Amino acid sequence: MESKKELEQLTNCALCANMCKHSCPTYLATGSETITPQKIARLILYQEKSFLEDEQGFFEVMFRSSMCGACKTHCIYENYDLRKFIQRGRSEAFQAGMLPDEIRKRVETFMKFGNPNGERQLFQKGTGDLGYFVSCSAYKDQQLLEAMDKIITVSKGQVQQFGGADICCGSPLYYAGDTEGFKQAAQKMKGEIVKRKLRKIIVDCPNCMKMMTEVYHEIGVDLEVEFIHVTEFLNTLLREGKLKVNRANITATFHDPCILVNDLGISAAPREVLGELGFEIKEPVYSRDDTHCCGGLCGARIGDCNLTDKVSAMRICELKETAADIYVSACPTCKAVLSGLDMKDITEIVAERIIDE
Ligand code: SF4
Ligand code: SF4
Repeated sequence: MESKKELEQLTNCALCANMCKHSCPTYLATGSETITPQKIARLILYQEKSFLEDEQGFFEVMFRSSMCGACKTHCIYENYDLRKFIQRGRSEAFQAGMLPDEIRKRVETFMKFGNPNGERQLFQKGTGDLGYFVSCSAYKDQQLLEAMDKIITVSKGQVQQFGGADICCGSPLYYAGDTEGFKQAAQKMKGEIVKRKLRKIIVDCPNCMKMMTEVYHEIGVDLEVEFIHVTEFLNTLLREGKLKVNRANITATFHDPCILVNDLGISAAPREVLGELGFEIKEPVYSRDDTHCCGGLCGARIGDCNLTDKVSAMRICELKETAADIYVSACPTCKAVLSGLDMKDITEIVAERIIDE
């Protein structure tokens, strides 16, 4: 444990009445007490004190959190984030060579290709000091890329698009506990941004944005550039009249991506965008900072696919209850994982309604 304060925080959590467990999606989807926040904290504390006999079992639990941040948002203590300790448990697993198979393979692919998709193809388009970083999850989604292209063209923006398969924020390595590999990915990203002389960058993936605005700083890689999430970019374009859209009298349900709301604090912008399109928003019971993870689990799919599927199935049921005409999100991973709902990204929804004069 790095400091007395951290030990106190973790002990408080281990002794807590598990006050946030009813916001924890992995617990809600499985009913498994072992993976509730307080039980995880207790395991980490026992591991610290070398009380545990089953080290492999401990590491498995570390990879069963979706790292969604709901426990941080609903914690009774201020400025406490259990994920910091889970992340350390993952780093120990990495160092001990005890990663779950699926995650180990992902790290190997990343090491070979520089991204988790196992491809080498740089995405580079347009010029200017406003950048659009195409995340590796958006790069696989042709409709999303075409939608963004249309928005940039119609709004007459000068945007330098870059990323895709060849440049990755490194989050798969971060969530696998590969601290050194993640640092190298962060430094590579910094070099790419400096090379392109970017002033501001639009990001489509909330997790990439969290890495670049928050986690890079924690590992000593600071980017001298402003970031905005695509929902904020779209909102600004609509408000400034740079996009003319057909309003429609339909109902829409917005799924708040967990990292977008719990880490980046963004929940108003996507709703304002949908409002500009004339949609009536039908909120699911769990929305805004009560949202539940889609099951995509921060780009580092956890070791247990059954668990992943249960989290996704639960979220689909919660969203379906609104019986809205359309379902929208603002994260390429959420869209892919919640495909059972015919989910669309907010970028596509805006592009579909553009009046191209
Ligand atoms: S994360 Fe906070 S609310 Fe949840 S069990 Fe730990 S101390 Fe209690
Ligand atoms: S990060 Fe999410 S899944 Fe993990 S313990 Fe906290 S609420 Fe549960």
